[in-house]
Amino acid sequence: MAEILSEEEIVKRRERKRPEKPLNNDIETSIDTNIENHAKCAKIEYESMGRFSTPAVLYFKDYSVEDINDIVMSSPENLIETLVPILNKMKFGKESEEFDVAMMTTEDFIETLVALKIRIAKDHKHPYMCDCQYALPEAEQKLEEGNIDLTQLQYKSIEDVEEEYRKVALEDLNSLSEEEWIEYRDKYAKDENISNIETITKETIVEKIKIKEPFTIYSDDNKITFRLSRIADVIKAQKIIDKEFAPAFKKLQNRVEHGVPGDVLKAKKQEEFEELQKQKAKKLMVYIKAYSLLTLNDKVLSDKEKVDLMINREIFPRQITRDMDSFLDQLKHGIYHTQEFTCPKCGKLNKEELQHSLSVAELLPLDSKNNRDNKQHTRLNIRFGA
Ligand SMILES: [Zn+2]
Repeated sequence: MAEILSEEEIVKRRERKRPEKPLNNDIETSIDTNIENHAKCAKIEYESMGRFSTPAVLYFKDYSVEDINDIVMSSPENLIETLVPILNKMKFGKESEEFDVAMMTTEDFIETLVALKIRIAKDHKHPYMCDCQYALPEAEQKLEEGNIDLTQLQYKSIEDVEEEYRKVALEDLNSLSEEEWIEYRDKYAKDENISNIETITKETIVEKIKIKEPFTIYSDDNKITFRLSRIADVIKAQKIIDKEFAPAFKKLQNRVEHGVPGDVLKAKKQEEFEELQKQKAKKLMVYIKAYSLLTLNDKVLSDKEKVDLMINREIFPRQITRDMDSFLDQLKHGIYHTQEFTCPKCGKLNKEELQHSLSVAELLPLDSKNNRDNKQHTRLNIRFGA
């Protein structure tokens, strides 16, 4: 496992390493008005530091009343799709305007929503479920709300991730036997087209590690490239899966069973509904992951080919899926924060890793007046990552 940096250390590094980039060139023409406008915007310095599609810095104006109305009216399933054009409209400045929010990684997207939510209120209520609820029947389980000060969140940059990754890679290389090392080195030389094998040392291999897309994974003789998931992948997968499952949900809803008491049928249907939801969620995750694939043996894949490849156990055995998952897990950056909440029911201390548990639904620009039933909302929300 990667060595985890202490929170103070992360903050320190973040301050030390963040390149203080000057404002974009677009302020040259009418400096005064643009500086003033920029000052009214949220300036977001992404932890991805320009490594993937999102620029290192973006500016956003605040949500308009119309935007908030659109968000309130959106169904939970369409939330992300609703948010993308709104955020695209809110971007400010030349570099910001050219960038499509749909190309954000999920980490960048969550960072954006947090930064914009802070401008409305820094006190945030985060829904969580304490262990004590799992003993209860599903229908009686209740979520608690824990308070978070969004301005106090800790973050981890991609450069911090890279440094950790190098350390772990060196440990892995050092654990190889002499024979394994020679074999690894020779393959490395071949893959990287290095003719002078003698110049390759464990240290030179580690120094050359730079986290950038595309990533390559080898499965037997097959070479597969992939990238981090984008919001566009999530939207596309959601549309296809919604369409695919719609008839099954409709059929279930309309089904009549003669001679079965109403409440019995209702309970039965509820059970089947939940099962269907689970299947849908599972398939959605497969599709989102599949869309992050790029090429197989240097051939660009179509969307259909991506999904077919992801479930093809010959080229894509479970071990490769696991390797890919664990690699993506090591690459997690952005919000990197553990928050403690004491359950008011049982007094137990809950530790929530916000990187895995902050949802899009809870980060909307809504106050308690126009916030919908949080429980319903949270159950249907999208959670990213493992
Ligand atoms: Zn509890």
